Amino acid sequence: TLADYSGIDSENRAPVVTIMGHVDHGKTSLLDYIRKAKVAAGEAGGITQHIGAYHVPHEKGMITFLDTPGHAAFTAMRARGAKATDIVIIVVAADDGVMPQTEEAINHAKAAGVPLIIAINKVDKEGADPDRVKNELATKDVIPEAWGGEYQFINVSAHSGEGIDDLLDAILLQSELLELKAPATGPASGVVIESRVEKGRGTVASILVQSGELNVGDMLLAGAHYGRVRALVDETGQQVKKAGPSIPVEVLGLDGAPEAGEQVQVLPDEKKAREVAEFRQERDRDVKLKRQQASKLENLFENMGSAEASQVNIVLKTDVRGSLEALIGALNDLSTDEVKVSLVSAGVGAINESDVNLAMTSEAVLLGFNVRADSKAKRLCEQEGIDLRYYSVIYELIDDVKQAMSGLLAPEKREEILGTAEVRDVFRSSKFGAVAGCMVVEGTLYRNRPIRVLRDDVVVFEGELESLRRFKDDVQEVRNGMECGIAVKSYNDVKEGDKIEVFEVKEVARSL
Ligand code: GDP
Repeated sequence: TLADYSGIDSENRAPVVTIMGHVDHGKTSLLDYIRKAKVAAGEAGGITQHIGAYHVPHEKGMITFLDTPGHAAFTAMRARGAKATDIVIIVVAADDGVMPQTEEAINHAKAAGVPLIIAINKVDKEGADPDRVKNELATKDVIPEAWGGEYQFINVSAHSGEGIDDLLDAILLQSELLELKAPATGPASGVVIESRVEKGRGTVASILVQSGELNVGDMLLAGAHYGRVRALVDETGQQVKKAGPSIPVEVLGLDGAPEAGEQVQVLPDEKKAREVAEFRQERDRDVKLKRQQASKLENLFENMGSAEASQVNIVLKTDVRGSLEALIGALNDLSTDEVKVSLVSAGVGAINESDVNLAMTSEAVLLGFNVRADSKAKRLCEQEGIDLRYYSVIYELIDDVKQAMSGLLAPEKREEILGTAEVRDVFRSSKFGAVAGCMVVEGTLYRNRPIRVLRDDVVVFEGELESLRRFKDDVQEVRNGMECGIAVKSYNDVKEGDKIEVFEVKEVARSL
């Protein structure tokens, strides 16, 4: 976050905007339309680079868009304490209405204290019903200005361009209320939007300058990396000499790739920059180690500072509304005067990156009920040492949380997933019905163990293996990387793209 610059000469700066919303509601299309209509018109050649952000000129002022739509980018920034966004646009498709990720986006933006503007998109489509969207959002406490609420609602079409100017006006109006200011001179500070290593160019970090002026030749500290700025490149691919507040630039010259959301700062000399960078590398190692130690639910509870010792934070995802409501009710009932259960977030669907980031920021445990983490989320959990637990029985989940709360260390029933296979093809056999041609992608599949069928990481069937074969032979087990044929007992709806997991329930002694 920006320091207090009262007393220092500050100038108005452009608002920084992030677009969020349910998948396919038009985030990318809106960004594309605005970029093509506004940037290409103003700048010869238009945008040639993808740098994760761009700024557009408008009669009444400049606007910077973070070109990383999706909640993951937003929460990744927040998880690192960066406040990169001034205004969030929530996109809702007028023909589809409010969906789970719409609600999730609203929750994230509200939790971050960032003002919202609602863009009702696809109003050009047949069946578009903007009023229905208004009604749905109003029941979620997002009430349109026209109805006496505090939120601007704008009807737009990313195809025809209808309403886009109104949307940009709404952003600038909101921005005026926020009185966004930053010093335009002096050493720059800002935040990393994304970074990568490119052949021939070295580390390329997209940086949003938030205050001061970033110059070629500056000594830059970015998270746990540093280096002298060799070149600055703007979103049109042009080399520039400097960049001011709310301006995104690519920076060449860092000694490694910092993470999205990390703070960036110009320092007076290399020695200072190296010192801080090395200190942070050390600290990052420590933090990761601590997280791994705390990754047992009960230890997490013990490790909480005394001020929060009385709270277990939970991020919960479930397969359907019904189980979500049941679990929320049961978890809330667990709270006592001494120990509280705090549901930081609860929703339906696979566990995604933004759930992991939220769990990270709020020191919560991640619980999945009949849902799994998608591959990005799984990787992030491993990287950051975040505890992730899967359940399929309500009372087992509740029991675990209860145990953690009371500090009782009874042996626990733990599910272990032994192996996962991806269904690549489905054959019909007269003997077994549907036979799934699979590739084992994790662990090992065993006979005589219970299995589940997952579709888009949600459990759709639980049962038994009827047959496990390699080529024509029945086999006991099939290892990672191998192909096999699987028939599932009394289940013939298996589809290409499904996953089949083999699991086992074990009694494990709890360790202190
Ligand atoms: P995202 O997943 O939110 O980024 O959504 P996309 O921008 O990829 O859009 C999803 C689909 O909706 C694409 O097929 C778009 O062409 C379409 N789409 C997006 N905006 C509009 C719109 O304003 N009108 C119509 N008719 N289709 C749209």
